[in-house]
Amino acid sequence: MPPPHQEPPKLGETVEAPKGIMGRIARTIVPVRYEVVCYECEYAFQVSGQIHETTCPKCRARLKGGDYVIDKEWFQPIRTTGNVQFLPGAVLRGVDVTAKDISLAGSTEHGGLHACRRLELWPGARFDITKLRVKDLVVRRGARFILAQAIRCRNVEVEGELNAIIFAEGLVTLRSGGLLAGEIDCARLFVEEGGGLEAHVCVGARSSAPSANVLVGIGRNHSLEIPGRN
Ligand SMILES: [Zn+2]
Repeated sequence: MPPPHQEPPKLGETVEAPKGIMGRIARTIVPVRYEVVCYECEYAFQVSGQIHETTCPKCRARLKGGDYVIDKEWFQPIRTTGNVQFLPGAVLRGVDVTAKDISLAGSTEHGGLHACRRLELWPGARFDITKLRVKDLVVRRGARFILAQAIRCRNVEVEGELNAIIFAEGLVTLRSGGLLAGEIDCARLFVEEGGGLEAHVCVGARSSAPSANVLVGIGRNHSLEIPGRN
């Protein structure tokens, strides 16, 4: 059962805490801090509250904000520090979309996606791997992809199935029920119990203590190759 709908308190608004042993206590909402990633230079910084426009403290670019939810054909380029969601049936045609987080359950036709932070791929997503730029890649449960070209990113999380050549400078996480195949070169690897790993894996090649970077649960097929160990 979802909780009953309740409007979240606005910034600076004082709300009453539930009655308890202390009686009625008022608490003041502290402004929420949001991460902004500059779409010009990729510098990440924090702001208080949601913003429509801001200036990157590093490259001084003026940055536009705003979120988009797209459920039809889309022909306009987007550059935003907000998020873009392509619902099933959405088609990106011939333009590029740059956003902080992008969620793709639709398809791209001659259009590029640049996720300054995270790209989530949902079942039914169709895209051109040569036109993807991502920092963190998430393959949601039920989604299955074979990537024809190697992908370079920071972190990867797989709940569904992914067959790819991955160079991740950060953490690769394989969730229970997920399947990861291909070749993986990453700094750290975490495999949940029930995650299937059928890949040639190279973990922490740049680390002096590679074994400390691997955490493996009980999966289906593991073939791990750790530099300096046999
Ligand atoms: Zn910048």
